[in-house]
Amino acid sequence: MTYDYDLFVIGGGSGGVRASRMAAAQGARVAVAEEYGFGGTCVIRGCIPKKLFVYASHFGEAFEDAFGFGWTVPTRKFDWATLVANKDKEIARLADLYRQNVMKSGAEIIMERAELLDVHTIHLKGSNRRVTSQYILIATGSRPSRDLGDCAGSEYVITSNEAFHLPHLPRRIVIAGGGYIAVEFANIFHGLGCETTLVYRGEKILRGFDEHMRDSLTEAMNNKGMRIVTRRTFHRVDKRGDEFFVLTDHGEILETDCVMAAIGRRPNTDGIGLEKAGVALGAKGEVLVDKYSRTNVEHIYAIGDVTDRLQLTPVAIHEAMAFVRTVFEKKQTPVDHELVPTAVFSQPEIATVGLSEEAALQKGHRIDVYLSKFRPLKHTLSGREERSLFKLVVDSDNGRILGCHIFGQDAAEIIQVVAIALKMRATKADFDATMALHPSAAEEIVTMRSKSYSKEPSPD
Ligand code: NDP
Repeated sequence: MTYDYDLFVIGGGSGGVRASRMAAAQGARVAVAEEYGFGGTCVIRGCIPKKLFVYASHFGEAFEDAFGFGWTVPTRKFDWATLVANKDKEIARLADLYRQNVMKSGAEIIMERAELLDVHTIHLKGSNRRVTSQYILIATGSRPSRDLGDCAGSEYVITSNEAFHLPHLPRRIVIAGGGYIAVEFANIFHGLGCETTLVYRGEKILRGFDEHMRDSLTEAMNNKGMRIVTRRTFHRVDKRGDEFFVLTDHGEILETDCVMAAIGRRPNTDGIGLEKAGVALGAKGEVLVDKYSRTNVEHIYAIGDVTDRLQLTPVAIHEAMAFVRTVFEKKQTPVDHELVPTAVFSQPEIATVGLSEEAALQKGHRIDVYLSKFRPLKHTLSGREERSLFKLVVDSDNGRILGCHIFGQDAAEIIQVVAIALKMRATKADFDATMALHPSAAEEIVTMRSKSYSKEPSPD
């Protein structure tokens, strides 16, 4: 049997693009179908525009901080339309760069929707063509969930997709959720001057993160004037004129100008013919894969958010590379989800790699914990009452660093480098033997001499 292509990729996001380029570089005949634009969530409506908004939101505090250093800043004025237009220009440039890179690699670009007809046949909806491929890679990503249960009026609720293109900056915003996106957008909108309320169904935001990080950020957000309402969900959303009224399940009414849900992302598995090819899905609709990203169908693979393993861009790229090595370079390469660094781009940031204190104990480690809480040097003159917190979770038995957690400015930049050390199985003794760089915040990592406390896993 001969096929039109060796590899057909559905989805031109970070994972799909990397797989297409790498497979084409191996001499494979590759096509990639994308119905919207290249770059996917990360470039078009995720990480990159979000980070640009984060930068924008920092200026308010920076202008305030400047005073202590002798600067007088004239009356400040923020223009949302300028930010959105400049962001859109940069996103268009990046999406085009992604497209050009795919083209240069020799892969064929197909700008239309693709659906599977069977295990080797794809229907191109726009041109009504059928093509065949030996291998198929599903890299269709995910979309924000709108599933607010039986909350009436959920049609008034925006998600992160719409937040990037709001016609005006709202004066007030209410955001549902307590994960990455809810917390990041709460900080963005607050930083841009909105009155911000976060409504979270649990006890404390950022479930799964180290408790010290969760507590530190909660305190910082409260101090800045963001309102965090916990143990609440949306019961109903009403619209009267330009205003929205969120009724919580406990009967409070929150008046606002914009309502946003950031309650997780759902895999994009609808309407792409997976059932016709017999591809098995999990409970959330995610494509089920093994450690090589192979589905239950031998020649069909899936990578990135659509598999709902870790919804992070570098992870999707890593999975793409492991897939190409396994299938086209014939080197069996399982994906490696160990020690993935991650950051929440709040103000200040949380960045983390490895196990939280709680996770380390759950895994049965006896641990030593090193904590350093301090006022960053900059704030001695800015006057800002903000503290940074560095935390190391160390295995008491062999000194290995199990986790590093940072709450503070530039935490993400620091943790990326710490992740290398952890991947190399660094011990506390290795950190201690490393010369500090002074004056910096990062030097705390190598200067924490005395442990703050030790803990044993509970016997049950
Ligand atoms: P998360 O999974 O991080 O958080 C979802 C939040 O919504 C949780 O607090 C969850 O509560 C809550 N929630 C879920 N369902 C409901 C519901 N029906 N009603 C009310 N609250 C609900 O998802 P996000 O949408 O924030 O982000 C999606 C993924 O995107 C992240 O997991 C992450 O992998 C990725 N991402 C990464 C970023 C980064 O690296 N900086 C930035 C943005 C996104 P509970 O805790 O109780 O489950």
